[in-house]
Amino acid sequence: MTGNPTSPPACASACGRQLSLFEADPTTAVPEFDWDRHDVVIVGSSAGKDSAAMLHTVCQQADQAGALHKVRVLHCDLGATPNGHDIEWPMVAELARRQAALYSVPFAVRRAARWASLWDRIMAHGNWPGFFARFCTADTKTVVGRDYVDETGKELSLGRPVRAGYALGMRAEESTGRAKIRTIETHRMTGKGTLREVTTWLPIHGWTTDDVWRLHREHGIPHHEAYDQGMRRLSCRFCPLAGNEDVIRSVQLNPALAREYAAAEEHLGHPFKKNLSMRRAIQLAGI
Ligand code: SF4
Repeated sequence: MTGNPTSPPACASACGRQLSLFEADPTTAVPEFDWDRHDVVIVGSSAGKDSAAMLHTVCQQADQAGALHKVRVLHCDLGATPNGHDIEWPMVAELARRQAALYSVPFAVRRAARWASLWDRIMAHGNWPGFFARFCTADTKTVVGRDYVDETGKELSLGRPVRAGYALGMRAEESTGRAKIRTIETHRMTGKGTLREVTTWLPIHGWTTDDVWRLHREHGIPHHEAYDQGMRRLSCRFCPLAGNEDVIRSVQLNPALAREYAAAEEHLGHPFKKNLSMRRAIQLAGI
């Protein structure tokens, strides 16, 4: 990955230097978010590069609006496999906590009430997630976010439904599907009879990967070492929606977990990806 424009900054951590957190940045000019209307803005963080850039942008805009006290960060924990391997990359929750601490905003980790782990959810479904079966995010992230909005609403005790912004790090560049998503819209978890009004906000929707890494470099934002090892995305160590190159690289970095996925693949009777089984990825990874 050396020389690749998607590569992370050379400085692999906050480096202990003083951060210039709220210096003006041309990529943060859009979109507009109504800070006055919302009681709280929850930042959904996987601790990945896009989450970290998005958190920075949210906090920068909040600071300019005098609303930094409204921001809080939520990391959804996806649990572990039966063999005790984390589904996500190691120490992501700790990294998300460190990133939140840069801005002195509250940080919380929550897990789905119904599922002990994403692994359990997949096994109950009987097949792997896919582009048209995003039950993984729906049931281990969106539901958790909704519950956290309700938890926050109870805590704020407003006597009316809480008005929450829900900020996510999706970028148009990632896929044609994501490119079509509106940057600010009312989320379907809002509804008559609910105790919440939720506005989804994609603050870095128009950013490129270069924009994201440049922000990391300029502000000394820490990133996960998986990026230094050649991964392009974080969250789950094995994602059926990831590119084959990323799956194979992750196999090299996580051989024991890869074998557990391969055994599950055999049990389920479905390949991990339509065009790449975990068994084949292990062969290609040469482990
Ligand atoms: S990383 Fe992939 S498998 Fe994991 S929750 Fe996201 S889409 Fe689902």
